[in-house]
Amino acid sequence: MGVKYIPEPFRIKMVETIKMLSREEREQKIAEAKYNLFNLKSVDVYIDLLTDSGTNAMSEDQWAGVMRGDEAYAGGSSYLKLLENAQDVFGYKYIQPVHQGRAAEKVLFGALLSKGKYSISNMHFDTTRAHVELAGARALDCVVPEALDPNKRVPFKGNMDVEKLEALIKKYGPENIGIVIMTITNNSAGGQPVSLQNMKDTSGICKKYGIKFAIDAARYAENAYFIKQREKGCENKSIKEIVKEVFSYADMFTMSAKKDTIVNMGGLIGVKEDKEIFQEIKNRTISFEGFVTYGGLSGRDLEALAIGLYEGLDEDFLRYRIGQIEYLAGRLDDAGITYQAPAGGHGIFVDARAMFPHIPYYEFPAQALAVELYKESGIRTCDIGSYMLGNDPDTGEQLKADFEFTRLAIPRRVYTQAHIDLMADALIAIKERASGVKGYRIEWEPPVLRHFQARLKPIE
Ligand SMILES: *Cc1c(COP(=O)(O)O)cnc(C)c1O
Repeated sequence: MGVKYIPEPFRIKMVETIKMLSREEREQKIAEAKYNLFNLKSVDVYIDLLTDSGTNAMSEDQWAGVMRGDEAYAGGSSYLKLLENAQDVFGYKYIQPVHQGRAAEKVLFGALLSKGKYSISNMHFDTTRAHVELAGARALDCVVPEALDPNKRVPFKGNMDVEKLEALIKKYGPENIGIVIMTITNNSAGGQPVSLQNMKDTSGICKKYGIKFAIDAARYAENAYFIKQREKGCENKSIKEIVKEVFSYADMFTMSAKKDTIVNMGGLIGVKEDKEIFQEIKNRTISFEGFVTYGGLSGRDLEALAIGLYEGLDEDFLRYRIGQIEYLAGRLDDAGITYQAPAGGHGIFVDARAMFPHIPYYEFPAQALAVELYKESGIRTCDIGSYMLGNDPDTGEQLKADFEFTRLAIPRRVYTQAHIDLMADALIAIKERASGVKGYRIEWEPPVLRHFQARLKPIE
């Protein structure tokens, strides 16, 4: 195999013990959890790949920052440091901290969307779609068609389909498009990057029709690293320069800081220069999150976030980070296991439809693979497919997702090469017994974001 593991650009200073239960115990635990991996206790999980969100290892500098956090209710120094750093990284005038990404969505979308309006995105992440719908609007996805073929290796599979975007704007009427959102990287398409050129083109269309252009910016640093690696003319730019340029094309952003900013909790809203919308954001933040100078976070969280903004941009870190995922992808290539290729930024999205062609979308093949990974090696992952997508908000019918991915999301600075090898070995073992794996049906589900709480039953 061709891909070498890139040695970690850090050493370990503190450890956390993890333990693998026996196969029998794992089978019992997952049945008790109603085959929903969100219901498992973390002590019953050996390798936790449920998400890369808030599960990252903070640095010694961040932990030192935690001790320095200013807990003042108003005007704290940690808040001011966060503003300064975020303004420097993103080049936006206005920055509002909030407690996590979905809080940013709730605050911003409530100000821009209402019944009869549409949000168009390269792909809405699940919470983003939920907040568009909770605001009364409808979410339309508009990703490039290459994204839908897991075997098609193109450099910027997360891009917006700009021709389709313009057609959608004309179809629904520019006055009804409340917002266009570029998700970087494109999480639901497999952590796939968006090019600088695509940012520019999308921005041009939004300007032409007078529509606000926002970035869903959770993985802004990984996206910039891909641009540096893959986009002509960007190889000599620094990651920081690329980030600035990407953000220069949009009007505002929402961000979960639990990803590339390497903190356990936090989020941001940024507005480039629109004072009026920022006033509305401040008003809504005070109602939902807390006073503007802490936005639902402790001073220590604000301090760690301010430091993480820069750590996430470190190129040695990003080379190792993306390299770790490419190493896992290389092992799957050798084994003939299909995943969203080339590998994206924050994990491997295994094509469960290819693994289990006998399980239809309404029996949730990607959820079935997630359950098998837990049974096989105590690995916790999640479904990014029809199970997560849920039902049509108008008809209540099960929607068919474009993909059936089981996501192995890799937390930052947490797992080693031996852990990565165990993930590959588990997938290979499941592939060998794939034809015997059965699908699932839902016994109970809540009205929105059902995958967090639903109860499932294996199909006999
Ligand atoms: C994680 C994420 C969100 C939501 O953020 P939370 O911090 O989990 O609330 C929104 N969009 C994208 C692309 C994400 O990855």
